[in-house]
Amino acid sequence: MKTCPYCRIEVGGDLKKCPLCQSKLSGEGERPYFPKLTTQKIKSFLYKLQLFIIWTIVIAGLGVDFLFDVRIPGFTDVRWSLLLAMWLIAFEFLIMRLFRKGSGSARTMTLMVFIILILLSVTAYYFNMLDFTLDWIAPIVITGTMIANFVLAMLDKKGNAMVYLLTNLLVGVLAYFVMRMRSDNTLATWIICMLISVILFVGAVIFKGRTVAGEIRRRFNM
Ligand SMILES: [Zn+2]
Repeated sequence: MKTCPYCRIEVGGDLKKCPLCQSKLSGEGERPYFPKLTTQKIKSFLYKLQLFIIWTIVIAGLGVDFLFDVRIPGFTDVRWSLLLAMWLIAFEFLIMRLFRKGSGSARTMTLMVFIILILLSVTAYYFNMLDFTLDWIAPIVITGTMIANFVLAMLDKKGNAMVYLLTNLLVGVLAYFVMRMRSDNTLATWIICMLISVILFVGAVIFKGRTVAGEIRRRFNM
């Protein structure tokens, strides 16, 4: 049993410091009261390690770009370190979401896809590839996300399918109209993207109609 020389109390377990006054305890320790939280410690260490590495890259990048004036050949007016920092901060945000429990996987995934698409568009703009990104990459990535959401909605047993499906419908149709406003001849990729979004929604209603109807009633108190 350990004792505190100041508070004159006996402290069980293997504590190093007095729980009352934080002074060093004297005497022999006993078997610890609490199991050691090794896995959590390792996890927390790895998290801090990656955070440190990311910040090192961001700071080193800014230094090389702004102070040493090292630019990418062919794109000498692009501040590449800012783009790099933007991507790494988004990556950190993703890690934070993954560490936090209880956030729906489909929602996190959709959110991440959107953040990545926005970052991709910003990056593509500086490298003169915005048209290619908006015409091809964005619709393909969105279509992939919608299909993944559809599969998740079909597998969902907790009755949260509605959120994915309505998001899908909204994303597909909205994106199409935004792209139509951008230019009159909307590319086939966006038309296909919208059609897939509608088809998936109809498919969900056909296959899971009763569940979806029940969910609408539950959500809107009908
Ligand atoms: Zn004490």
